[in-house]
Amino acid sequence: MNSAPLIVAGIPVSPDHYIDGQRIGSTETFELHCPIDQHVLGHVSEGLAEHVAQAIQAAQRAFPAWATLGAKGRKPYLDRFAEEIGKRADALCQLESNDAGVLLSRMRHGVVPRAMLNIKWFAEHALGLQDRTLETEQATHLVRHDPAGVVAIITPWNAPLMLSTWKLGPALASGNTCVLKPPEWAPLTCSLLADAAHAAGLPPGVFNVVQGSGAKTGAKLVSDPRLARISFTGSVPTAKWIAGAAGANLVPCSLELGGKSAFIVLEDADIDSAAATGALMYRNAGQVCLAGTRFLVHQKIADRYIEALRGHVEKLNIGDPREEATEVGPLIHPRQLERVGAFVERAVAGGARVLWGGARHPFGAQYYQPTMLTDLRQDDEIVQNEVFGPVLTLQTFSSDEEAIEMANSTDYGLGGVCYGEQGHAVAVAGRVRTGFIWVNSFGIRDLAAPFGGIKRSGVGREGGEWSFEFFCDVKDIVVPKKPFKASFSHR
Ligand code: NAD
Repeated sequence: MNSAPLIVAGIPVSPDHYIDGQRIGSTETFELHCPIDQHVLGHVSEGLAEHVAQAIQAAQRAFPAWATLGAKGRKPYLDRFAEEIGKRADALCQLESNDAGVLLSRMRHGVVPRAMLNIKWFAEHALGLQDRTLETEQATHLVRHDPAGVVAIITPWNAPLMLSTWKLGPALASGNTCVLKPPEWAPLTCSLLADAAHAAGLPPGVFNVVQGSGAKTGAKLVSDPRLARISFTGSVPTAKWIAGAAGANLVPCSLELGGKSAFIVLEDADIDSAAATGALMYRNAGQVCLAGTRFLVHQKIADRYIEALRGHVEKLNIGDPREEATEVGPLIHPRQLERVGAFVERAVAGGARVLWGGARHPFGAQYYQPTMLTDLRQDDEIVQNEVFGPVLTLQTFSSDEEAIEMANSTDYGLGGVCYGEQGHAVAVAGRVRTGFIWVNSFGIRDLAAPFGGIKRSGVGREGGEWSFEFFCDVKDIVVPKKPFKASFSHR
């Protein structure tokens, strides 16, 4: 059974799962809302236990042939997959703007080109994975990266297309078959991704999409002992649950989680440049894991910095993400809006002072003003916990030691930003306990570079060789250099 397409912004998109090369509907559906104006976008098939089982079986059946193709044999499929994504660029932009509220301009110039690259780049770089040779005194070691098997991919709503392809690229290129569970608040671009894979001729079962809630569909998927890997991006509580389910079956999992990253502005920073970059932390209405959400500013320059940043924030164009000029859009869901508002209320009740914002934004029901809170203690909830909205905090420090101490005093360790004279900023950045940190910049990413967090921000690394390491089983075929003499005393 399959359902009629949904029409979203004039674009037809299947509301069904994609399993074994076919669209499959469900007796149960869930409702999808547009975060910009709350209209109902349609009903999407919910993944029941039978759909999860079908998808895993299809991926298992497809695995041997896909693995045997080798990286060279898989590359033409994946290159076509990337091209088919490109052919759907306009539709993908519209869909993610409508279901996730992501800026159309960002989709067009950032996310869609990156989604294509995520597939193409890993297909190319998987070629270098085959048959590395290690010569030692006794033997030639043929070190192989074999595909692991069936991979479950679980992604969050703040960047569904980008994060799904970021995992699919290396997983597929290294010969695994995949079951993707996209986020239930924003599944539409992943449905179109299935169309792209189908048009590219990916063999049935190599890539499957099962939609649905985390508690029902996601939990069923990650509890399946037939999985070889689980790759997850999302929140800490979900990660703990998934790690438990994966642990019960001893399935390796990679966990990319939340952050509460420091944005450090040293006394010798270029204030204007640090302020212009600071305003970017409101991007995607603050629903960005790697944003520097805790400003730590040297007390001598704090007043000047606050005024410079305020100048940039006042100019932010808040509105409909489908308009080219918009810079900040809505929060994804009424629940997220409520969560953000409650964080601010509790902080203010506890003594925080609002520098700007602090209330809903009149543009629409799911909009919140870019907000900055100050007069905070290090153990305040708003300093310690991820808000995942346009709410930032600002604290001051009087020495590098104090800045580093404050930067390191949360349970998170994902990203970070450090502005200052370059050598000084590099030295301070080096002492911040985090997975990555940008010096006098923000958001520079390369597919070859490692990405991931420490402490509660994650387990494992993605990017380049680190993605391949995770998705592959490393095998050593040992070939002796001299005829082997069997002996019980041999070490
Ligand atoms: P979430 O953890 O609620 O959901 C993420 C995904 O997990 C969704 O697809 C959801 O359906 C699924 N899920 C939920 N419960 C599940 C379960 N029991 N078993 C299997 N799957 C389950 O996170 P969210 O609210 O969608 O996303 C926001 C979070 O993601 C934030 O904490 C943010 O920082 C984080 N994030 C991290 C990165 C990164 O790269 N480190 C990137 C983007 C977002």
